[in-house]
Amino acid sequence: MSTFDNAKALGYAPLVEKIQAASLTEYGLCPEPLMDKIFRATAKEGDVYVYAGLNNADVDCVLLDLLREKPEKVLSGIEIAGFLTGAAAKFLYLPEEEKELTDQLRSAASAHNVILVNDIINVREAEQDLILHIATACDLADLVDGELADGVYIKTADKPLAKVSAETPVADLVSLEGAKAVYLGYQYYTPEEAGELKAKDATTGFIRVLTEKDCIVAETVKILGKDRVRSCGRCVFCREGLIQLEYMQKEVTAARGKTGFIDLTKEIGAPMGTQTLCTVGQRSADIALSAVGKFGSEFEAHIKKNKCPAGVCGAFVHIYIDPQTCTGCEECTDVCPADCIEGKAGFIHMIDEFECTKCGKCIEACEEEAIVMTAGKLPKLPNRLIKVGKFKKH
Ligand code: SF4
Ligand code: SF4
Ligand code: SF4
Repeated sequence: MSTFDNAKALGYAPLVEKIQAASLTEYGLCPEPLMDKIFRATAKEGDVYVYAGLNNADVDCVLLDLLREKPEKVLSGIEIAGFLTGAAAKFLYLPEEEKELTDQLRSAASAHNVILVNDIINVREAEQDLILHIATACDLADLVDGELADGVYIKTADKPLAKVSAETPVADLVSLEGAKAVYLGYQYYTPEEAGELKAKDATTGFIRVLTEKDCIVAETVKILGKDRVRSCGRCVFCREGLIQLEYMQKEVTAARGKTGFIDLTKEIGAPMGTQTLCTVGQRSADIALSAVGKFGSEFEAHIKKNKCPAGVCGAFVHIYIDPQTCTGCEECTDVCPADCIEGKAGFIHMIDEFECTKCGKCIEACEEEAIVMTAGKLPKLPNRLIKVGKFKKH
């Protein structure tokens, strides 16, 4: 028998009892006893719907691995939730960009009468229905199958998604040695703060350690960019706030940052948490607020000292060809997408820094390791084509 058949065979009342006895709780940002959510939805007048998905704000999406690895469990859990609420229809929401996963799930979803949608959940429209995290759906199916394990799902850079005890210290899950920051649950923490956190604090299931080689500002730009794409634009504070936050951090990475950006980030980010409808607006500012609040010195280094401490932001680094090492082999000119390397066979090659996009392709192509990326000063370089071996430093 399938998981759903087992649930139906058990019957409504014993199933409710089983869920309550297991204290099954909604996953993610809005933890609440699952049965309380189900009872509230069944009190709705008219048709009830089940909307399953990640928290809207979850741009890391590591918990989608549950759908990749055990789609039957998640889909069965959604079907069981539909049975408990008497739902007229059940939907599984997947991020827009997950078209491939959506296609992979299509036939299984149809077998479970679950409709797939590539969007975020419209929380206002669904507020009287059952919004269900996919990890809760998975837990529900595991409970029916007698396979429910305690704990929360965690994925790190070197470990796949797996359940660990909710009380596991973060320091036992990732190495904090050499850490500059720890990113989990929608914000950055200092290593000292992370040392006090537990697995249950990683509400997206993802823990990432940032070291001196990672630029906090550049990483914040990436995350805000994903949030901005995710925003449906209904709330002004989310729509405009994310555009402004991303713009300011981008300007900082492009060496065009202004001192006022730190305060402005706080001014824009703070009200987003309260003036928006769903977790995208409520949580996305946290990354920028924690970045400027805890790692303000990194922003100041970009803005005031014209330096990216991690040497990541292209606007602050130089790429040059070491005239003593270049053999004039021409390999680099072939790979440069900006066509900005001047040279010919047997001559020392030169990069036009003005046109260079700092993509790094030439560095990979140069077997002589003659192409150097540095956040420091440029050495003396040729200003015209010179034969290999003829360049004089002084
Ligand atoms: S916070 Fe508002 S604008 Fe942003 S995604 Fe949610 S509903 Fe849409
Ligand atoms: S920089 Fe490297 S790849 Fe380019 S010509 Fe010189 S040796 Fe060859
Ligand atoms: S970093 Fe990229 S754009 Fe710049 S010279 Fe090398 S290949 Fe060309």
